[in-house]
Amino acid sequence: MENRDPKPGTQAESSTLHNVSTPPRITEADDALASCKAMRDKAISCPRVQFMIEAIEGLGCKLGVPERFITCAHLDGTKAGGFQVEPGKDPVIYLAAGVGYGQKQVEQTLTHELVHAFDQCRAHIRFGNLLHHACTEIRASALSGECDWSEEVNRGNFATSAQGEKCVRRRAELSVAMNPICADKPDPKATAAAAVSFVFDKCYFDTAPFYRLP
Ligand SMILES: [Zn+2]
Repeated sequence: MENRDPKPGTQAESSTLHNVSTPPRITEADDALASCKAMRDKAISCPRVQFMIEAIEGLGCKLGVPERFITCAHLDGTKAGGFQVEPGKDPVIYLAAGVGYGQKQVEQTLTHELVHAFDQCRAHIRFGNLLHHACTEIRASALSGECDWSEEVNRGNFATSAQGEKCVRRRAELSVAMNPICADKPDPKATAAAAVSFVFDKCYFDTAPFYRLP
C-alpha cells in the first residue's frame, strides 16, 4: 500500500498498507469515486503503468481487465492505495477516493501497487514475513516515482544528494510499521526500520522490471 502525503507541515506523512485491513467502502453516485475512476482510467494508459501491467502478464500472471482489478474506494484515513491478495483469488488494487490527489499522484500510487503485484507474481511474497514486506515496499517506493526529487520538495524535504534514498527508506518504514506483525511489537517503528535496513541494498538496487531506477 501507499501512504498519502499531506501538504508539508500539516500532519505526519502517511503510508501504504497491504491486505487492506479496513473493508473499503464503495458507494454509488459519489463524486469522489467518479473523479477517482476518471483519473484511474487515464492512468491505465500512462507508459509506466502500461509497462508494469505488461511485465506482470509477461511473467504469466493474469490480471484481467484493468478497470476491474483496479478499484476506486474510500480507504481509511491516510491510505492512498492498497494491494490485496488472497489465496485462490485474483489480486485487487485499491485507489483511494476523496484524498485530493492529482493525476500524477494517482499514476504513482498505481505504479506502487503494481510493483507489489509484480513481486507477488515473481516471488510469492508473504506479507506475514517482515523482510518480504520491507523488500517490496522499498522497490515500490523507489520505482513508482513517489521519491523523485520534485515530490520530496513538495513534501518540504529539501534535497540533499541522497534524498531519493532517504525518501525510499522513510516511506518503506512507514508502510512496514503498519504491518500487524510490527504493530504488535513494543516499538513498531524500530522493528520496521530494522527490517528495512536488513534488506535495503539488495532490494533498492533490484529495479526489475525496469532497467534502472527512474
Ligand atoms: Zn506499498
